Formats: sequence, structure tokens, C-alpha cells
Amino acid sequence: AVETELYTFEKSEEIFAAAKELMPGGVSSPVRAFKSVGGNPVVFDRVKGAYAWDVDDNKYIDYVGTWGPAIIGHADDEVLDAVKATMDKGCSFGAPCLLENQLAQKVIDAVPSVEMVRFTNSGTEACMGMIRLVRAYTQREKVIKFEGCYHGHADSFLVQAGSGVATLGLPDSPGVPASATAATLCAQYNDIESVKKIFEDNKDEIAAVILEPVVGNSGFIKPDKEFLEALREITTENGSVLVFDEVMTGFRVAYGGAQEYFGVTPDVTTMGKVIGGGLPVGAYGGKREIMELVAPAGPMYQAGTLSGNPLAMTAGIKTMERLEQPGVHEELERKSKMLIDGIVAAAEKHGHEISADCAGGMFGWYFTKGPVKNFQDATKADPEKFGKWHRMMLERGVYLAPSMYEAGFMSMAHTEEDIKRTIEIADEVLSQL
Ligand code: PMP
Repeated sequence: AVETELYTFEKSEEIFAAAKELMPGGVSSPVRAFKSVGGNPVVFDRVKGAYAWDVDDNKYIDYVGTWGPAIIGHADDEVLDAVKATMDKGCSFGAPCLLENQLAQKVIDAVPSVEMVRFTNSGTEACMGMIRLVRAYTQREKVIKFEGCYHGHADSFLVQAGSGVATLGLPDSPGVPASATAATLCAQYNDIESVKKIFEDNKDEIAAVILEPVVGNSGFIKPDKEFLEALREITTENGSVLVFDEVMTGFRVAYGGAQEYFGVTPDVTTMGKVIGGGLPVGAYGGKREIMELVAPAGPMYQAGTLSGNPLAMTAGIKTMERLEQPGVHEELERKSKMLIDGIVAAAEKHGHEISADCAGGMFGWYFTKGPVKNFQDATKADPEKFGKWHRMMLERGVYLAPSMYEAGFMSMAHTEEDIKRTIEIADEVLSQL
């Protein structure tokens, strides 16, 4: 039995009420507002290792990890010390710096498809650069994306986009001109026939197929390896670019990302989250021949005042140094598996339908029988049950993503004790759900 007293959230409530008067919805990014799970969010005070503390001093085992970056654990001492040392030299240069070479080299060494890389400040920016690049390279406009995949909030990607867009029930967003999405064609994940059909209907017009090579923005969905292989084939046959958006999966499911995990190499890759070690970094990279189109090497324009920022490069380099050690991702997967196995056993014991899976340090479960192969399958999960589950776990000290359309993140800092404790708490919650 779990003997914790349920948490209360007085200070969080007070601060969030004030925040709502100051910022739309009280937040700087929609899913943080807990809209789809009900109740108000907790306001964080500090993070360390596998834990987060809120302003009421409640301590959580954290499986959000600032939405992915905290893969070696929050506020790692080595990262903090390195960032402080860099900070003594200044916060931003707006000029070339050696740290960019060092992180670029690490990315190129790690990610099979990447021969050259351009740094940005976010995953969204990386995806904006990427789509312009694939269009410039192929001199075609149409792209294929998948229902439930999120590629940041650029206009052309806000079509059936998963994540916060799915959570809020907005298949699209007002303010996005129809012309901006007209060339974005949507296929079904894990369904190669739906992709073939679009290629047939748009002969020699498809610039790229863009996907999350493991989906984290419709909840957690693994691709069939054959699906990825078939995408590799069909894009090559049609002179189209294959893009893996590894903003979430990069350096997380394996050091070389999902492309290493599944052994399928795209032409272009987008990255973010982990490569910034908690500071703002995104990146896109790929074959030299394609990347040399990017300005100033080539004519495709993309830029950034703060891009390649020394603090962010430092946090990224230090994080990567830890991740490149042997066995890290096997250990992450072992812990992810231990967690989902425990949750599934507890759910089944108490008569709940559940379907769960993991890859490296990324995992997820749905309260539905499964298997969940695409976004449509994911929508069969019970949102009301998820909302209650989320609140009850929160009140007992487990911080889970506040939407059933988000994946969970394991870190190197989570111990077996943390995971066992999480399963015990889940068992109690599931017995009452
Ligand atoms: N692509 C994917 C696959 C993502 O998961 C995200 C963010 N969750 C993005 C792009 C956008 O990144 P950012 O939030 O850093 O703009």
C-alpha cells in the first residue's frame, strides 16, 4: 500500500490564477496548462536528477523531463558547471565559435544520415528550415506527412498535427492560410498503401515524406520496420527526400536516433530537445549535397540571431558526452520496459484494458486494448479515465505528461527504486479508477 498523504497545491493554484491574467491560458506552451486532463497545472520551483519540486514543495518522480531534453537527468552537475564556465565568457556571440564545431562533429558522428548540420533555436525552427530545404532541393512543393505527427507549429505542418493540437481538438488552427497547407498531404501512419496512393495521384510532385520515426505526439506509437523500409524505397523511386523528424527520438531511442534503432537511413533529419541539454537548440542535417543548398553555402535562406549560442552548445556537448558511453540506451530501454511491464500488470490486475510499448528512453501506454498503430487507434483510448489517472498519480508524486497524446521519457537518473515506487503508486490508483 502507498502511505503518502495526498499532495495539495495552494501556491500553485495562486500563481497559476495570476498567470492566466498575464499570459494566454497562463502558459508559454499549450499542453502545460493541463486542459485535456482537467484541474490546474502545478508550478515548478526546481528540478534535479529524476525529480521535480513544485512551489508547494511537493516532490515528483518526473517522466516528462522537460519534454525530452533531460535524458541524463535534470540539472546535471557536469552540465551546469560547464554552462557556468562558458557563461563567464559571455552569453551570446553572434559569431562563429569553436563549440559549434564540437557539437556539430558529435551530431555528425552519431546520426547516420547527417554529413552536415545547421543549428537553430528550437525543433519548430529546425522543421521550418527542413521543409524549405527539401522543396529547394527537389524543386517540388508537395510534402507528405502523417496524421497525428507533430513537426512544430509552422503553418505548413499544422494539419492533423497531434500533440497540443490533438489535445485541444484543433485539427488545424485559425490564422493558418489555406494556401500554406495546400501542399501538405496527409497519410496514415504504418499504412504504406495510403502513401502509395498519394504518390500515384501526385506523380513527380512530392518533395518529401516527413515523419516521426517513432511517434511521440499521438501518445507513443512504434513504426513497423517494414513501413520505414517501404518509405525508404518509395521516396528513392520517386526522387523524393525521406525526412525523419528526430526532434524527440534523436539521441533518445538510440544514440543515433530511430534511424540507428531501425536501421533505415533518411536523407534529412531534424533534431532538438536532447542536443540542447535543456537549453534552446534545434538542428537539421543530412547529406552534404543537400545541406550545401543552405545559405551562405547555397541559395536557400535560413538564419538566427541566437543560433549556435555558446551556452546551448555547451549543454548539448556535455549531454552528448554522457550519452555516447556504451550501454546507455540499452539501460534506458531496460528501465522503460520495467516501467511499462509494471504498469500493464497493475492495469490488468485491476481489470483495465491497456496497451503499452517503448523504445530506448521513450515509452507510452493507452487505456485501450490496442494494438495502437496510428492516430485513429490512439483516439479509441478513454480521455476521461486518462484525466482521472493523471490527477491521481500527480497527487501521489508521479509527474506524467498531462495529455494522452504525449509519450513518456525515461532518464539515466531514474533508479529502479523510482520505477518500483511508480508502479506501486500506479497499482493503488488503478485499483480505485
Ligand atoms: N518535432 C517533433 C517530433 C516534436 O516532438 C517537437 C516538439 N515536441 C517539435 C518538432 C517542435 O519542437 P519545439 O517544441 O522545440 O519547437
